Amino acid sequence: MKEKILLIQTAFLGDLILTTPLFRAVKKKFPDSSLTVIVNKGTESVLEANPWIDEILPLDKKSVKSSLLRFWRFASDLRKRNFTVCLSPHFSFRSSLLAWSSGAPIRIGYRTAGFSFLLTEKKSRPILGPHEVDKLLSLLYSEEESKAIDRRPELYWKEESVSGIRNVLKSWKLEKGGYILMTPSSVWETKRMPAEKFREVGIALSEKTGMPVVLAGGKGDLDLCEEVGKGFALNLAGKTSLPEMSYLTAGAALLVTNDSSPIHFASAFDIPTLAVFGATVPDFGYTPLATRSFISEIEGLYCRPCGIHGGKVCPEKHFRCMLEQDPNRIVREALRLISR
Ligand code: SF4
Repeated sequence: MKEKILLIQTAFLGDLILTTPLFRAVKKKFPDSSLTVIVNKGTESVLEANPWIDEILPLDKKSVKSSLLRFWRFASDLRKRNFTVCLSPHFSFRSSLLAWSSGAPIRIGYRTAGFSFLLTEKKSRPILGPHEVDKLLSLLYSEEESKAIDRRPELYWKEESVSGIRNVLKSWKLEKGGYILMTPSSVWETKRMPAEKFREVGIALSEKTGMPVVLAGGKGDLDLCEEVGKGFALNLAGKTSLPEMSYLTAGAALLVTNDSSPIHFASAFDIPTLAVFGATVPDFGYTPLATRSFISEIEGLYCRPCGIHGGKVCPEKHFRCMLEQDPNRIVREALRLISR
């Protein structure tokens, strides 16, 4: 029988990118299946042209959180589609509720998810240790089977979606492999290395490599990127769509970033990645999967990690995990990554 598979992943952008190996694995396990993916509205374009997905359903989380009626409308539309299997890697009780509402007789998710009693197969999910991609693959595959599966995320774009960024790069004479990409922001404040340190790193890398630096981020990161790059870098914060971010990352010689979603864009294109970790730790499983990478972190700091995502302010008030980051060391390691 042709399986009709529903996958619910309404987490952050980075989590969605890290779910792309699972999309591929689903189609490998069920070659004739159809795959429908529910994503957080606003992130769907990062999956455009993905060859493994048959249908994307964006879910406006704010809207369904504020109206039970809208939630049930969305849920009852799902039921009409006759899904046979539902994979629910997201933890929220709403995801479990959607999985159950879909009517799929097989509903696979994590034991620790909210309302997990609505799932028919519950997998364990260690907080520390395995990479997030492996945790996601564990929904379908045993640890042994997962070893044979390609863990690299994959991102695509439609040509018409990247004509803008193509023109920008052309007008700045930036060629593939000829610029350094820096993304100094993060959704969480304690995951951000201070702007002056990013600036120091950017200026040094630009001088030592002769390569221009491009800054990227969301609309809200415009001022931060201006502070980091004033006078030496091209600031594209708020000017790239998600497919354009894929295109921009794919052309970089190096990414310098915090522990945030650009790591996973870079992993998709095997771009050397220098990632600065503050309040979070690599053991949470969100590390770069690029062949060449380095994580800058203050090892042995008693208060790390202080939250699964990092928080808005340092609970210990000293913010040593970021204030003690050494720009000279970051530059040294970054140069090592691109000179290999
Ligand atoms: S408590 Fe420690 S790990 Fe958390 S933000 Fe402060 S310095 Fe960083």
